[in-house]
Amino acid sequence: MKNRKLLMIPGPIEFTPEVMRAMGMPTTSHVAPDFVECMGQALERTREVFLCPGGQPFIVAGSGTMAMDMAACNIIEPGDNVLVVNTGYFSDRFGAILERYGARVTHVKSAIGDVPSLDEIEAELRKADYKGLAVTHVDTSTAVCADIEGLAGLCRKYGILSIVDGVCSVAGEELRQEEWGVDIVLTACQKAIGVPPGLALLVASPKAIETFKNRRTPVGSYYSDWANWLPIMESYEDRKAAYFGTQAVNLVWALNISLEQILAEGMDKRFARHRLMSDAFKAAMTAIGLKQVPVNADKAANTLTAPYFPEGVNGSVLPLIKDAGAILAGGLLAEIREKYFRVGHMGAVSAADILATVGAIESGFAKAGYKFDHGVKH
Ligand SMILES: *Cc1c(COP(=O)(O)O)cnc(C)c1O
Repeated sequence: MKNRKLLMIPGPIEFTPEVMRAMGMPTTSHVAPDFVECMGQALERTREVFLCPGGQPFIVAGSGTMAMDMAACNIIEPGDNVLVVNTGYFSDRFGAILERYGARVTHVKSAIGDVPSLDEIEAELRKADYKGLAVTHVDTSTAVCADIEGLAGLCRKYGILSIVDGVCSVAGEELRQEEWGVDIVLTACQKAIGVPPGLALLVASPKAIETFKNRRTPVGSYYSDWANWLPIMESYEDRKAAYFGTQAVNLVWALNISLEQILAEGMDKRFARHRLMSDAFKAAMTAIGLKQVPVNADKAANTLTAPYFPEGVNGSVLPLIKDAGAILAGGLLAEIREKYFRVGHMGAVSAADILATVGAIESGFAKAGYKFDHGVKH
């Protein structure tokens, strides 16, 4: 398509033609037999993509923040202690949501671009009687990736719930919910899941559902209350229509197609492709002299890259890069907002997309007067 720009931000991303076609299908009733089948399949496939065969999936209209809200409001009762492993902007947000439902939140924070160590987290867990730990898998503001397997192991050791904001990770970054023993994983459809914005996805472990069922106080949100949604999800999975709030029919069709494409690729292959694309992109940024926000490579996410602008270049380069064909995102973390930019490379991203994006960045930086060795050697 002429004049088409690549949307290389950390969500929404580039979507496949099949997903976009599903968005344009005639809208049927949310209780029509073909939609019931589609919703049932989408729930089953969600479980597979989250690698959580024993979990309870929820698919509800809303953004990723709504999924965070749903996790918090159903699990937290006033006075519960929750530990937030804080790696940036979205960890702050999770803390605020948890507090809204009455949690007493303790943040363990690291320097920008770093992740608190498991030892630091364990030292904090020993200090108080925590109900749960919340962590952002990939913090979209810093591009750092937390060690979910290690953290979930600690949560099991201390018998507390683990809640993972996987909005920028699920279906891109390796995450094995059941094997690693994570109680709640949540995401939104516009990131590595590969569907236009509008759906919140969440998978809860049996322990999370049991915690919800044993609540002593009512859930503080009407829309997000699992008491309203659990029977609906169970019913659709049994291929029976049910109503609480109207499903986002076209988005669910698109989701079902995208989940099918994700599973056709296979989760292990998909994780490996994200690693490969990320390594290639990060190597190109290093080759033109850019440093990144994550303090070292093994703490960096595979779904996005957050490079610092080099000396003499600022955010005014982003429109030049856009003119050269790639739309990128500016900084998000307040402390360093003007100093860096963010590039999403998740979902259906291909080597051709990576090359085109690197080319657009080189072109924009050259126009901005930055001198560098071209990443691609001739
Ligand atoms: C994008 C994002 C969110 C928020 O999702 P919305 O759909 O914008 O509400 C939350 N957490 C992380 C890690 C994200 O990347």
